[in-house]
Amino acid sequence: MRERFWERFPLEELTTEEWEALCDGCGQCCLLKFQDDDTGELAVLGVACELLDIASCRCSDYENRFSRVPDCTRLTPERIAEFHWLPHSCAYRRLAEGRKLARWHPLLCGDSERVHRKGISVRSFAISQHDVPEAELEEHIIAILPIDD
Ligand code: SF4
Ligand code: SF4
Repeated sequence: MRERFWERFPLEELTTEEWEALCDGCGQCCLLKFQDDDTGELAVLGVACELLDIASCRCSDYENRFSRVPDCTRLTPERIAEFHWLPHSCAYRRLAEGRKLARWHPLLCGDSERVHRKGISVRSFAISQHDVPEAELEEHIIAILPIDD
């Protein structure tokens, strides 16, 4: 990867390896969400996608994620502006908005555990979709996100 590529190149010029390295491993985008059809608001659940390994906050089958979880969304530089639901802490969102990476980001601090110690990741609270009956999902809403254009 090129030295400090995230400061020197726009998102659309990153290599695949650089693009993947931008993910801070928070797992927040892998929390289940419900969308209100009328308001567009998103309800975020404290329940993680069935494929999220909560201990590591990484997808347990990243290669096959789209065939196994049809709702899984592919982040691309072209579509990043559409992803209003990404957390403000997300490295892709930060760079797309012209902000810098956070100091706790693994690329800056060299420590992939700091995102967990800082409480940014879902490791400390998420429960797996495997452990929640579908009828009880609504009881696990933890935030409502307004969707702005
Ligand atoms: S929210 Fe962003 S940084 Fe966090 S896991 Fe998802 S893509 Fe990676
Ligand atoms: S399939 Fe993997 S990357 Fe997609 S939401 Fe689930 S855990 Fe996250």
